[in-house]
Amino acid sequence: MTTAPPTGGEGRRLRRLRQLTEVPVAKLASTTDRQVADLEAIGIETVFDLLTTYPRRYLDRSRQVDLEGLFPGTEATILATVRAVRSRRTRQGKAMVELDVDDGTATVTVVFFNQPWRAKQLRAGTTALFFGKAQSYRGQVQLANPVVDVVAHDDPAAALDKMLRIVAVYPQSTKGNLTSYDLAQMVAEALDRAGQFLDPLDDVLRERLGLIDRTTAFREIHLPSSMELQAEARQRLAFDELLRLQLALGLRRQVIEREARGIVHHIEPGVFDGEVPHSLVGSLLASLPYQLTRAQRRAVEEIFDDLTAPLPMHRLLQGDVGSGKTVVALLGMLAVIDAGRQAALMAPTEVLAEQHAQSLAGLITGLSVADPSSLLGRRPLRIATLSSRLTAAQRTATLAGLAEGTIDLVVGTHALLTDEVRFAALGLAVIDEQHRFGVEQRAVLRDKGRDEGEGADPDLLVMTATPIPRTAAMVVFGDLDMTVLDELPEGRQQIHTHWASSELEVEAVWAAVRAEVAAGRQGYVVCPLVEASDKVEATSVTAEVERLAAGPLAGLRLGLLHGQMPPEQRDEAMERFRRGSLDVLVATTVIEVGVDVPNATIMVIEDAARFGIAQLHQLRGRVGRGLHQSSCYLLGEVPTPEGARRLDAMVASTDGFYLAEVDLELRGEGTILGARQQGRSDLRLASLLHDGELLTNARRVAEELTDAHPMLEGAPEVADELRLLLEVEEADFLFKS
Ligand code: ADP
Ligand code: MG
Repeated sequence: MTTAPPTGGEGRRLRRLRQLTEVPVAKLASTTDRQVADLEAIGIETVFDLLTTYPRRYLDRSRQVDLEGLFPGTEATILATVRAVRSRRTRQGKAMVELDVDDGTATVTVVFFNQPWRAKQLRAGTTALFFGKAQSYRGQVQLANPVVDVVAHDDPAAALDKMLRIVAVYPQSTKGNLTSYDLAQMVAEALDRAGQFLDPLDDVLRERLGLIDRTTAFREIHLPSSMELQAEARQRLAFDELLRLQLALGLRRQVIEREARGIVHHIEPGVFDGEVPHSLVGSLLASLPYQLTRAQRRAVEEIFDDLTAPLPMHRLLQGDVGSGKTVVALLGMLAVIDAGRQAALMAPTEVLAEQHAQSLAGLITGLSVADPSSLLGRRPLRIATLSSRLTAAQRTATLAGLAEGTIDLVVGTHALLTDEVRFAALGLAVIDEQHRFGVEQRAVLRDKGRDEGEGADPDLLVMTATPIPRTAAMVVFGDLDMTVLDELPEGRQQIHTHWASSELEVEAVWAAVRAEVAAGRQGYVVCPLVEASDKVEATSVTAEVERLAAGPLAGLRLGLLHGQMPPEQRDEAMERFRRGSLDVLVATTVIEVGVDVPNATIMVIEDAARFGIAQLHQLRGRVGRGLHQSSCYLLGEVPTPEGARRLDAMVASTDGFYLAEVDLELRGEGTILGARQQGRSDLRLASLLHDGELLTNARRVAEELTDAHPMLEGAPEVADELRLLLEVEEADFLFKS
């Protein structure tokens, strides 16, 4: 099979992926000029692009139905050749294309309605795969509006003869004239000319991982000799994708670590066991009305270990809603402040930042820090919020306090990263959000600590609001160490969730709210998500309060909360609700995170199908925080099956990790990966949902490789592939030196 390489050269050397990227598809004998243009239109320019355009499905001809055996009512895929084409109009005037197709065993009719272009696409002599449900029409079997994949236009007999038992069906552009068969021809030629591939995994490693070699893998994914081998080929090539990804993440860590100037925070031994009562950590622990859960203790210990280690911490703290991430993060911040530095907490929005600031302020009242310059040797711990609601004077004072070090802890949004904000000694940044904190921000943050050459890199703790599945976390946050709070504080009430869609059911929900209020509890009503604008949303939630006050919740004390309200009004509404002088808070999703009122036991989410799972779960987490049984009602009809699955999942489970998996399954991986682009475009075969084990293996191998060869210096082939397949920016970052 091996022939001379496409670009000449030294003959039988092993083929590297890089070489494939250097050969344009025009060099293949099997491409015509016109096809080259068509290929380019679907993003295939080089032989590498061609070989990594994988079939989207396969037809096993040995299992294929013959037309002869096609019965009405069955779903079938048939491979057949068009013999005659008739374009007509139905009596209602609809365009109709009727084909006679035959596969050598029988002839059937295929009809298309309202697809006049089919006449051109499927001219006589064209061989195609037709997938659809066979029907009986006037005593004849026919296929109406089937899914079609063109296999070849001309000379079908030759095409069919050359085809293997298993036919690969390639993604097709509807415009171009490229057929699946054309692509298969080109791929076959490219594979022959490529010969043996260089395999970055040696025999021993492949054996251990149970993976086939790369040459076989490329051949079997395109020209499978059996579906079993095709599956093994997919495993191997998907592994390569995941390995590259994990290597990139591993290298990223090495680069960061190599350049790091970490802080060794001094944490008093025993502080966590109450042995240093005057420290912030000690006094917070003493003042908490509860014991930390085992998971929280473990998390704090991990964070303290990182803080006292010479390298900057890069850690992800995951935990379900209500698992108590706030206090864990706060203990980390206090340890850093005890050690003489500052801490910052960054939230994705101003509203969230304010809510965080409030809950932190509640936790730290009465705490003081050592201050040799003051009379008693101590001064109160100072916390500030940097938000747009500050007056110019307040803002100036806050900025000065941060620069001088008289403010210990600051809460804000990404505005904390702007140039204006200087820290005297930033020791730890906690970032509360999901997916939104990129590489660039991390660099900015580091520079905040370094402050023009002085100082050092702050430690970093990223918190997610709701869990994300483990596999997704390994990809999206693979360059962070991970801590999972896998335990809820004791005594948490199970939240009963119901889905109410009929008018009667909805009435019962309002009755339940009234009953709960009569029993002394409180509740939330979350208004439908309005995507038009925050203004429109504000109007609609205002109208909803009025409607409820006049109707189903008449006589109850209702409050209003939305993001467009001036901050003072928001505070006031929250404060009144907290004090119990409001029964029901009617709100937009601003209550999503941070709101913590244990007496609230009922959550009503209107038009729930419009929210994503993570958001619903987060909203539901606002109840069930106290001693009372709580419930959550999801209202509304569901326009899509996917929406129904979301709500069903919510009703079935309160486990955020489980819900995150369902979410990933429903939304697909693009949404998760899309959020953090670098280096992710290489995932063509691998699936975050189904390749968990492969991913775990890839991560282990990547660790072994980067441990054995720091910066991959002793593994040039692997490094070369990475440089080739990562996004340019990512590769530049990793290999700049
Ligand atoms: P989340 O992980 O969702 O951010 P929070 O940090 O907001 O959770 O904590 C949820 C609630 O649980 C808060 O009211 C907090 O005071 C309380 N809490 C945290 N840790 C514990 C614990 N170990 N025992 C009891 N209650 C706790
Ligand atoms: Mg929280």
